[in-house]
Amino acid sequence: MSVTLPVKKNDYIDVVFEDLTHEGAGVAKVDGYPLFVPNGLPGEKAKIKVIKANKGYGFGRLIELYEESPDRVKAPCPIYKECGGCQLQHLSYEGQLKAKEKQVREVLTRIGKLENVKVHPVLGMSEPWRYRNKAQVPVGEREGGLIAGFYQKRSHEIINMEACLIQQEKNDEVVRVVKDICERHGIPAYDEEKHKGQLRHIMARYGLVSGEIMVVLVTRTSELPNKQNIIDEIVERTPGVKSIIQNINSKKTNVILGDETKVLWGEEVIYDFIGDIKFAISSQSFYQVNPEQTKVLYDKALEYANLSGEETVIDAYCGIGTISLFLAQKARKVYGVEIVPEAIEDAQRNAQLNEITNVEFAVGQAEVVIPKWYEDGISADVLVVDPPRKGCDEALLQTIISMKPKKVVYVSCNPGTLARDLRILEDGGYKTLEVQPVDMFPHTTHVEAVALLELN
Ligand code: SAH
Repeated sequence: MSVTLPVKKNDYIDVVFEDLTHEGAGVAKVDGYPLFVPNGLPGEKAKIKVIKANKGYGFGRLIELYEESPDRVKAPCPIYKECGGCQLQHLSYEGQLKAKEKQVREVLTRIGKLENVKVHPVLGMSEPWRYRNKAQVPVGEREGGLIAGFYQKRSHEIINMEACLIQQEKNDEVVRVVKDICERHGIPAYDEEKHKGQLRHIMARYGLVSGEIMVVLVTRTSELPNKQNIIDEIVERTPGVKSIIQNINSKKTNVILGDETKVLWGEEVIYDFIGDIKFAISSQSFYQVNPEQTKVLYDKALEYANLSGEETVIDAYCGIGTISLFLAQKARKVYGVEIVPEAIEDAQRNAQLNEITNVEFAVGQAEVVIPKWYEDGISADVLVVDPPRKGCDEALLQTIISMKPKKVVYVSCNPGTLARDLRILEDGGYKTLEVQPVDMFPHTTHVEAVALLELN
């Protein structure tokens, strides 16, 4: 049976956008039927073309804007449309923060059924550009020369890029210099289709506070012609470089880094600080990409934990121990758990580096390790979770409900799963007191939030 939809493919229609999706597209409705249109902003009147009409929703393309939103701005990046790395540059920064706040509030009500929860305005950046501390750009060839930049949206075509406006300027510079040096020494770019050639990616990491730079050359094999000259030139032309690494990735894969690394020059790691805590960052380490806002987020988590120095704290999904070490300064004891063994090695090294002795880290699934700790008599006064996008495992939430820590601080990178998990904790006897969204990724649709719960 065919359903009659209010629009069909290739229709041109006039619409008013009512909303913004979590992916940054405008939402228009025709007789209740939603159409998602990239680049449309709430309040705008436009002519669109229907590109696809599914049963419950469709997609359109913006053809002409009749009336612009007062929040619309000209995207400052010249390659904004082709790249796809940012989704919200056409919306003023203030408009972005308002949209993210609205998203968090709506999701908490709709999915979490949390009425009247206090959602604060998003903590944004005063200078929301040039914030990323890590660049990893694919390398290709054009007319015999090397190009380095980004994959065009929905393709593996490499577009050459001189600058990325959300990237630390230093990283742009490093990529340009390294590309130039490799080109002059005749290093062939990796060819994805033929699985031939050599240089796959150039990666740059920059310690915002320390000023230290790491350069990583990702190559298909361990061979690197003219290696010594390349190293000498990188060192000469990159003030601040502390580490040059070769990473070998011989697989046919989209994963950037391979398993094997060689230190070509300098140290194996660079160092950086978040607040007073020093971190060692290797080529493979997970490290927050916006250190300035990470500090804002962790300060909020610490404020919510409200530690006196007497508490036992559990940090679930602790990664390289960033939050654990932050909390350890104010707690009696912190236990961190994380599934990736290398991250726990980093966490232990970081604890030593900072002479923090009241932390203990374990490798494993939070939903397995924490129940075991609980059985063994380890129980938390404050429990912090910072799960990946899919949220907390139900078994972990049930353990929290039995363990009854007085406070739960939930750090989330996905408001949808945050809302779902808060509902479970509320049903288990917790009350969500407040939620603070933090903008870790300006001009993208990502939203980070920290929630404070207390046992009823
Ligand atoms: N709190 C850290 C990392 C948060 S990212 C920081 O702020 O830097 C989420 C982390 O959860 C990742 O390091 C991921 O490896 C880990 N993880 C994913 N599933 C897990 C599980 N079931 N148990 C424990 N850790 C897990």
